[in-house]
Amino acid sequence: MAEWKASCRGNREKQERGRTGGSKGGLFLPDQPPVIVPVFLPFQGCKGRCVFCDQKAITSIDEKGVSTETIVRFLSDAFSKTRRHEGKKVIVAFYGGTFTNNPLPVIRQILAATSSFREKGLFSSIRVSTRPDSLEEEKLLLMKEYGVDTVELGVQSMNDDVLNRAGRGHSSEHTRDAFYLLKSLGFEVGAQLMAGLPGDSPAIFMDSVEEVIALRPSMVRLYPTVVIEGTALAGLYAGGRYTPLGLEETVSLCAQALARFEEEQIQVIRIGLAPSQELIEGRRMIDGPWHPCLGFLVRSRHYLQKAIKSLPSSDWMGLDVRVRVPSREITLLRGFRNQGLSALKAALSAKTLTVTPDDSIARGKLVVEPI
Ligand code: SF4
Repeated sequence: MAEWKASCRGNREKQERGRTGGSKGGLFLPDQPPVIVPVFLPFQGCKGRCVFCDQKAITSIDEKGVSTETIVRFLSDAFSKTRRHEGKKVIVAFYGGTFTNNPLPVIRQILAATSSFREKGLFSSIRVSTRPDSLEEEKLLLMKEYGVDTVELGVQSMNDDVLNRAGRGHSSEHTRDAFYLLKSLGFEVGAQLMAGLPGDSPAIFMDSVEEVIALRPSMVRLYPTVVIEGTALAGLYAGGRYTPLGLEETVSLCAQALARFEEEQIQVIRIGLAPSQELIEGRRMIDGPWHPCLGFLVRSRHYLQKAIKSLPSSDWMGLDVRVRVPSREITLLRGFRNQGLSALKAALSAKTLTVTPDDSIARGKLVVEPI
């Protein structure tokens, strides 16, 4: 455990990114990501259980209805550490269920529990996650009144067979309609996509990526499909009817998706499941490409691929070589356990490779020179 903690330190925390900032020198990263205060409402409002889903394993929170008192207590605690949030945009986010499928009075109660904190200026807006087939205009208008400005849709796939096999109970048409409705009401729309669902393939996944790009989300999250004990997927896995993607396949596929979203100036704000205690300790995970630093693995793979593509065609074989990069990108270049550095050295056929920080170089660029 200590091993990955040392290698990932600082990268997991930076992963969840907001929609501020922009593309500089080809790397699409925000300058000042907002602080997200997540409130988990496990399975609240869900119509059924998707085959892969176990909110307890993902959030370490028990699946009981979360009371408004609990929400107020949680927010009081979160906002008591206000110094951490100074000068940053703060967003309260309701995750873990189908927010908009709650009855309207419940939605009002939940959102009203946040009002006193908003009036004190402790946060500026709210985002919620939900399913694409659970949107009603009346509820959405109420949500706007309480400061909800972003809705993240569990898109998961744009392939109807994959959606069906995942037990989602909605089609890709619902997702298109949901984007249209939410945008017409002025919401920012996020899309969550999953790699490795039953019936999915790299080609189908990349088709889903392209379809999501066409819908122009404000932000995207990429999740791996993992097999968690007690889920329907675990049953399929046990019966030999589901094989999860390997970690390498997942990294490679998500890096391809990340490259496409970046090309289209769409921010990928998270890659990988949040490292809940249950997942970290491996108590409920049966199989699948779970890694506490999946986001970092994918982002450094993508960085390396771009770096190798941009290398000048000179012959570095057998030379001692120095690479100069902006200081904040050194970690990305090094990669997990220096794997990125080794791959770059191999690509150059260099004898030795030294990395030097140089902030005069544009983000996303590097300079290679003989020593
Ligand atoms: S994936 Fe979303 S909609 Fe499906 S069961 Fe889990 S929380 Fe509910």
